Amino acid sequence: MKAQSLQKFRQFTLIISMLLFPITIWYFSPYLIIMAALQHIINGSFIVFTLMFIFGMFFGRLWCAFFCPTGGMSECFARFSPKEPVQGWRNYIKYAIWFVWVSGVIICHATGKGDYTIQPFFMTDHGISVSNIYAYVIYYGIVILFLIPALVHGKRANCHYICWMAPFMILGYKFGRLLHLPQLKVKAEASKCTGCGNCRKVCPMSLDIKSLVPNGEINTAECILCGECAGACKNDVLSYGISCRKEK
Ligand code: SF4
Ligand code: SF4
Ligand code: SF4
Repeated sequence: MKAQSLQKFRQFTLIISMLLFPITIWYFSPYLIIMAALQHIINGSFIVFTLMFIFGMFFGRLWCAFFCPTGGMSECFARFSPKEPVQGWRNYIKYAIWFVWVSGVIICHATGKGDYTIQPFFMTDHGISVSNIYAYVIYYGIVILFLIPALVHGKRANCHYICWMAPFMILGYKFGRLLHLPQLKVKAEASKCTGCGNCRKVCPMSLDIKSLVPNGEINTAECILCGECAGACKNDVLSYGISCRKEK
């Protein structure tokens, strides 16, 4: 698929995902998984987060680029706040949130009661998350909470700083590397790179791509595999490819 068509396809899938978000939001809920754990229920968000980890082993954070509703919203907001978020210690906030929360889920499973059951639609209305006016209040509250970092700190700052889902994919990606599994990557032909920096300007994750090019691939878990950089590079340095981690 040509770079332009790919980006049109990406915009299309993100728009669909954003439109469906009132139906799907509870399947990404960090709260419902705790309520379910107390009753020994494997709920929708448990299944989704597990799939994110498995998907991440082979496809890294492709989900973030093509399918995540809040990722799509952040990219829309980037038009109003296009600055690059400061990288550094703030990137670790999401791991702290994730660790405390996942520990809570484990404790709830350990102290919960009853036989285990699988209920993908747990606490939804026939599978629909937001089905009444009160749920809409919660829905908009979550959306606003999630988008504040993107508005204040810039492009996809929520993805860098606070997203509780990103660590599942990042850990999946790292686990896949550890196992030398074939993984989708953005490959780089370093000899063709002129260091112009066009790729960084379009990168929704504000990555310093030209410093990663000498590695022969964008080998960071912060890359969401959106392919924007490949489309912006006039020298055809960047392209999708499949590779396994090589021993040094
Ligand atoms: S980091 Fe989180 S909010 Fe951002 S696109 Fe990925 S899953 Fe969505
Ligand atoms: S746009 Fe291409 S040539 Fe320019 S810095 Fe990026 S990879 Fe190198
Ligand atoms: S490095 Fe390229 S593929 Fe990765 S997030 Fe940035 S623009 Fe997208």
